[in-house]
Amino acid sequence: MSALYGTYARSGLAFERGEGMRLYDQHGREYLDFHSGVAVNALGHGDPHLVGALKAAADKVWHTANTFTIPEQERLARRLVDATFADAVFFTNSGAEALECAIKTARHHFFAKGQPDRYEIIAFTGSFHGRTLGTIAAAGNPDYLEGFGPPVPGFKHAHPGDLEAVKALITPQTCAILIEPVQGEGGATAMSNEFLQGLRALCDAHGMLLILDEVQCGFGRTGRFFAFEWAGITPDIVAVAKAIGGGFPLGACLARGEVAASMVPGTHGSTYGGNPLASAVGNAVLDRILAPGFIEHVEAMGQRLAWHLQQLAQKYPEQVLELRGKGLLAGIRIAPPVRDVVTRLRDDHGLLAMSAGDNVLRLLPPLIVTEADIEEAIGRIGAVFEAIGTGSTAAATAE
Ligand SMILES: *Cc1c(COP(=O)(O)O)cnc(C)c1O
Repeated sequence: MSALYGTYARSGLAFERGEGMRLYDQHGREYLDFHSGVAVNALGHGDPHLVGALKAAADKVWHTANTFTIPEQERLARRLVDATFADAVFFTNSGAEALECAIKTARHHFFAKGQPDRYEIIAFTGSFHGRTLGTIAAAGNPDYLEGFGPPVPGFKHAHPGDLEAVKALITPQTCAILIEPVQGEGGATAMSNEFLQGLRALCDAHGMLLILDEVQCGFGRTGRFFAFEWAGITPDIVAVAKAIGGGFPLGACLARGEVAASMVPGTHGSTYGGNPLASAVGNAVLDRILAPGFIEHVEAMGQRLAWHLQQLAQKYPEQVLELRGKGLLAGIRIAPPVRDVVTRLRDDHGLLAMSAGDNVLRLLPPLIVTEADIEEAIGRIGAVFEAIGTGSTAAATAE
């Protein structure tokens, strides 16, 4: 009997070591990782550059506090600013905290401009922004709000893709629009360029801020550093986490200078955010992701994955209902229960994949994936579809 909270339906599987795309369990069995600890292990397992950076940092000062200067954190922020739209960065330990900072930054920006009533944010159904009280209210998923008292006020929700519905929700109180350019948990759903451009235009027309949650889709995963780049838009605030630390807990809120300007001493803080260990690893991750050719590799592998998924869809039309996602955040909406497919892939075929909303099989390989890995994964998924057979959806056991 575990002494842990029962918040996860955990598998008994425990991994002992990892190397690149592969993980090994306590019995030495090998698994191909198309899960990446939920899009975190962007550089796979045991990357020597990351391991070296963490070991070197461990020999120095582990922790001070954000009231002192942390040189590695300064350097990471400068590099993120130089590489992106942002002028200022606040570091956190997680995605939800990065979103909390994004929401507070947007609200405080208008407070400082003498508009304290302008705090409402328009967000979207099917989104996921984390598990804090603020972020469950922001996402508005009733399953995650139930039982936790009154939701934090100030969030309204529209259906993603429906620009008219967004327009209808705008009031003088609206301060921002918050969206994942590619919904992860919700079902690997990519927003169209036109929709994101439409949101940007609405924000411009109404003096609102555009906040993007790139915790899952950012940091290279779609074949661009940020997923919003595909739409050619510039956001005001972006929340990142997951891949930014490559497995070390780290997140960040990036903002344009004018937007971040009101976040003065006393408005926000974090004991650990961007501490020396996290920042050292963050810099090492950035070394790899910004290296010439890295993002181009991700884009190419995203295209190969999409091509192989199309072949799979043609071969198994009974099982594959729809292909979704962008780059290496790919989804297959399937007919058989996705939990059963995920379990079979893991236990019978040694492939780690994930589920997402809408009965979607979600593939999130480390960004170092090769086409040979992709072919291997697609082969294993095909084998599960073969085993399940046609028309036997009901026979697949629901967990
Ligand atoms: C995972 C995730 C979060 C929350 O990140 P945590 O580190 O679990 O707090 C927020 N937004 C998106 C899009 C995510 O995928």
